[in-house]
Formats: sequence, structure tokens, C-alpha cells
Amino acid sequence: MATNGHTTKSESASQALEYFRKLLPPSEIFTKGQPEFKEQSQPWSNYAELNPDVVVQPTTLESMQKVVKYLYDSTDLDFAVRNTGTGSVSAHDVILSTHGFKSFHFDKRTETVTIGSGFDWGEIDILMEKEAPGYAVVSARCSWVGVTGSALVGGLSWLSHEFGLISDPQNLLDMQVILGDGRILWASEEPDLMWVSSAYLHTVCLDLRFTVSDLELIMFSLITGAPRRWRELRR
Ligand SMILES: Cc1cc2nc3c(=O)[nH]c(=O)nc-3n(C[C@H](O)[C@H](O)[C@H](O)COP(=O)(O)OP(=O)(O)OC[C@H]3O[C@@H](n4cnc5c(N)ncnc54)[C@H](O)[C@@H]3O)c2cc1C
Repeated sequence: MATNGHTTKSESASQALEYFRKLLPPSEIFTKGQPEFKEQSQPWSNYAELNPDVVVQPTTLESMQKVVKYLYDSTDLDFAVRNTGTGSVSAHDVILSTHGFKSFHFDKRTETVTIGSGFDWGEIDILMEKEAPGYAVVSARCSWVGVTGSALVGGLSWLSHEFGLISDPQNLLDMQVILGDGRILWASEEPDLMWVSSAYLHTVCLDLRFTVSDLELIMFSLITGAPRRWRELRR
């Protein structure tokens, strides 16, 4: 029912679902009860669960652009961009999943990789081994962590002692983003955009470009410690 010229929140959510159904194929929309829904909406911490109504997972630049513009332009829908959920992201209405964006390109000449925002770092490790043997990218320590979320918070890698954080400018070279108004651009085209992206303000990251390093340059060591009680139990 319309109130004061605005629609109520529940109306907005159902209208949004109608809009998504017109725009996207059924394979890119998940609602409660579908096995993919839980997988694509569950936050790492159950305390952060906000019980969204729908997950949308556009797979083309054009449909992602339309969804982003619609979500920003529509009424008071609460939505969140999500990759793996490791950062415990959730929303009351709509989850915008980036899992449809899984392109990978290694450029040997420039020693860079361009990675879609739907990957976790474990998937990138496998692709690097296959497509860029001998090279490494500064990634997260835990393989299930998402590429973009970790880059947006800084990102700590097993290589960080020597090469810095994932988001350091020598590692993260550029990001392709969709702005709230639907414009698509590379952060390098607008000097402040890398900083804005880092603060998650009105941007959805699509592709990220990273430096890769020759593995021969890397010295790597790991020291582990275990509590005495645990060691006793292991005897
Ligand atoms: C068990 C555990 C282990 C971890 N290990 C590491 C580690 O080894 N190294 C490390 O650096 N960090 C680690 N982290 C922290 C991790 O980097 C953050 O939790 C990060 O936010 C996860 O990002 P995600 O995309 O996987 O998660 P999500 O919950 O999907 O997203 C996290 C945030 O990023 C935003 N976001 C995600 N994708 C996009 C996008 N395409 N465009 C715009 N915004 C986006 C989301 O809106 C949300 O605000 C760990 C966390 C946990 C819980």
C-alpha cells in the first residue's frame, strides 16, 4: 500500500523480485527454500544474519549495471554486495552476489593478473598454478576469503612480510567499479576512486588488477606454536 507517496518496505521487496524476474534468468535469482539461497546469503557469523528475501547473481556487465542502478534508485531496500560472506555481510532485503563474475587473465608481459570479483583466493591459487606457473599474487592467508572483501579491508597474505598488504598500491593496481548511478569505470580514471572503494561507498567492484611476482624472489617461512595442553593430548 502506498504511504505518503512512498511504497512500504515489504512492497518494495516484492516489486524488486518482480523486476529481477523480468531482467534475469531463473538461474540468477535465489529465494528462501532453494539450497543455493543459504549458500549465497549466509554470513560467516550467525549473529550477523539479517534474513534477506532474495539473492541475485547477475552474470553480465549489463545486467549487473541495471541491478545496481535499480537498487540504488529504488525505495528503501536494504541490500548488500556479497562474495563469500566471510566478512559476515548480510542485508534485510537483497543480497547482490558477485559469484557470476569469475574471469581470470594473466598478462605475462606486464606481470599482472586481472581477476573477477566473484572468486575466493583458493580458486585463484589453482588458476595461478595452471595459467601463471612460477608466479604468485599477494592474496589472503585463508583460501576461502573473497578477493574483493579482503582487498577492501587491506588484506593479509603469507607474502605480506615481504610484499605488503593486498590493497597496497604496488599490489592492487586498479579496480573496475559500478557506481550507484550505474556508471562503469576503472578506478584509475578517477584519482579518488580507489580510496572511495576502500570505504565501500556506493561502488560495486567487478574486476581487480594485481601485480604478480616471480616465485623465485620470494623467501617464505612459517613458525607455528601449539599450546602445551594440546601437545600433551597429541602424545
Ligand atoms: C576465518 C577467517 C579467516 C580470515 N582470513 C583472512 C586472511 O587470511 N587474510 C585476510 O586478509 N583476511 C582474512 N579474513 C578477513 C577477510 O579479509 C574479511 O572478512 C573480508 O571482509 C572477507 O571478504 P569477502 O568478500 O570474502 O566477504 P563478504 O562478507 O562477502 O564481503 C565483505 C565486505 O566486502 C564487501 N564486498 C565484497 N565484495 C564486494 C564487491 N565486489 N564490491 C564491493 N564491495 C564488496 C561486502 O559488501 C562486505 O562489506 C578472514 C576472516 C575470517 C572470518
